[in-house]
Amino acid sequence: MALTREQYDDIMRGYMQKQNRRHQLRMQRRDEVYREIPEFKALADQVPEVAVNYLHSRLGIKEGERSGSPALVRPELEKIAERKKELLRSHGYPEDYLLVAPECPLCGDTGFIDGRKCRCFKLKEIEILYSHSHLQELVKEQNFDVLSEAYYEGEDLRRFRIAASACRRMAAEFDEVFRNLYLYGTVGTGKSFLSICIARELLESGHSVIYFSAAALFDKLSMYSFDPKAREELRSFTADLYGCDLLIIDDLGTELTNQFISAQLFTCLNERHMSRKSTVISTNLSLKEMQTRYSDRVFSRITNDYELYKLTGSDIRVLKRRQRTAASSGSGLRQTKIT
Ligand SMILES: [Zn+2]
Repeated sequence: MALTREQYDDIMRGYMQKQNRRHQLRMQRRDEVYREIPEFKALADQVPEVAVNYLHSRLGIKEGERSGSPALVRPELEKIAERKKELLRSHGYPEDYLLVAPECPLCGDTGFIDGRKCRCFKLKEIEILYSHSHLQELVKEQNFDVLSEAYYEGEDLRRFRIAASACRRMAAEFDEVFRNLYLYGTVGTGKSFLSICIARELLESGHSVIYFSAAALFDKLSMYSFDPKAREELRSFTADLYGCDLLIIDDLGTELTNQFISAQLFTCLNERHMSRKSTVISTNLSLKEMQTRYSDRVFSRITNDYELYKLTGSDIRVLKRRQRTAASSGSGLRQTKIT
């Protein structure tokens, strides 16, 4: 998948706006400091002349008595810089008040480094290209802040706690520890919810996340693979799929599986494993069913490289529905497991 011209221009316009805002803020702060600290302005006014002298002395150009030796002029510039910092501090400003940092320190909010797309550009690109998954919307409602144990008890609760803490650990240690998760178990036990919680944490820490239901993922892969005109689209799509920081495949097993899909799944998991990119899979399939449905090599990849967490319990969606009905009919159901 690739950006349209319009989408590309939109991103570039965003960068221009960021650069303009930064420039304006820098000018505002400079004017404010000049107004508040006249000595600061006097020092700043001296800098160009001292700098020219420094340049002359470096180049060995004599300009009357004005040029000093580099050994003398350089400390003079440093002295001015130090005095400016002192002035800012003594007037209650941070010493880097006039240095307005770009949002992206890697590319300075230009979107490119040496002609290649910066990481921040790729993040935007993925957000736009994969917006169909509504991940940005999902993470607003499904995140660790609202994660609730209210729907579990006994063994189900124990399993849920173990899985939830693994998800928190994955998000917290994402840059240090390479992990993959396989969340499996019965329908409606919070597997997708947990994977979206991880997504929210990673999006917030500036990682690229692609979220797909298995059905949508394999639909797209089939569409591009069987269309000879879509070679470039396929190349670009698989590059994103194999290269994003976190890939979430939700509801594995709900797609119509065949040999092609099984092979695609293996390639995807394998490519990501080789480049040490993490994947989270949620599924209603048991391990045995997964092995039968896909292949031994998919089974072996997952059982060897993934942390496996089984979730059990009643279907939370059904519980919620019952609670809503009970609430509207006035009977006070507890917010605990209902069987
Ligand atoms: Zn950047």
